[in-house]
Amino acid sequence: MEPQYDIRSSAFEQLILPDERLRKLGDGYQWAEGTTWVPDDSESGGGYLLWSDIPNDRMLRWSESDGTTVFRQPCGYTNGHTLDREGRLVSCEHGGRRVSRTEPDGTVVSLVDSYEGKRLNSPNDLVVKSDGTIWFTDPPYGILSDREGHKAESELGANYVFRLWPDTGKIEIVSDRFDRPNGIAFSPDESVLYVSDTGHEPDSPEASIHAFDAAPDGALSNHRIYARPDSGKSDGFRVDSDGNVWSSAGDGVHVFSPAGELLGVVLTPDRNANLDFGGPDGTTLFIAVNQEAYSIKVNARRALRP
Ligand code: MG
Repeated sequence: MEPQYDIRSSAFEQLILPDERLRKLGDGYQWAEGTTWVPDDSESGGGYLLWSDIPNDRMLRWSESDGTTVFRQPCGYTNGHTLDREGRLVSCEHGGRRVSRTEPDGTVVSLVDSYEGKRLNSPNDLVVKSDGTIWFTDPPYGILSDREGHKAESELGANYVFRLWPDTGKIEIVSDRFDRPNGIAFSPDESVLYVSDTGHEPDSPEASIHAFDAAPDGALSNHRIYARPDSGKSDGFRVDSDGNVWSSAGDGVHVFSPAGELLGVVLTPDRNANLDFGGPDGTTLFIAVNQEAYSIKVNARRALRP
């Protein structure tokens, strides 16, 4: 049997269940992304996984009872998803070049599609802070061609990380230092913001997960390179309750300590782009792996919101 793990530290052995193996949830996608677990205490019922199959302009849904089904198609070429403080689904849309929210009755409303009168590029991934602000990345992947959206010129001419106040529509740039900002998450206490950059050559230090200190008011300081997978690039990632960062990469899910040390890898059969913790007790890792989706039980759970 193929090894399931690349164990680089004793700490990693505490984060996995050595006998567990990947379970395939589905296949036949063109490019899977945006895995998000919807717990069963959410507004919409829940107890299921959602993810995006971007080139097919559809969202997929998996639950233990229903298996894999199509959740929404067309869907505006969604990419990353998360839940807000009220348990509502918030999504990045390449096609609509916007961040949208799905209301409990299923209505999809636009939260933002421009900055200072210029259209966003193609929001990629996002996180909701405990104060309700939505932090999202805006690289050009949805406008480079018609494959993952609609080919178009960038109106902004740059690829920013934004913060949005969804109640008022206020939006500001929080970082302009990235080539192609992509995954984004906070540490459990929200004192650190992580952003990956999928631009640059793979061996460039810039093609890493970056970190900033984040003040309670959201002000960022002390930029540094946090960690870089040694296979492929970091796209989406999640932070567990101990502050370890579980990142997508070329050969598996790379798990980094809060200090940035690579603890080990949950190996996957292809490159993977995004993941989330979920399941009934929150300890199942769900992974979007190129044209397939998998789950595996682990000994870790997603950080609870502060
Ligand atoms: Mg992404």
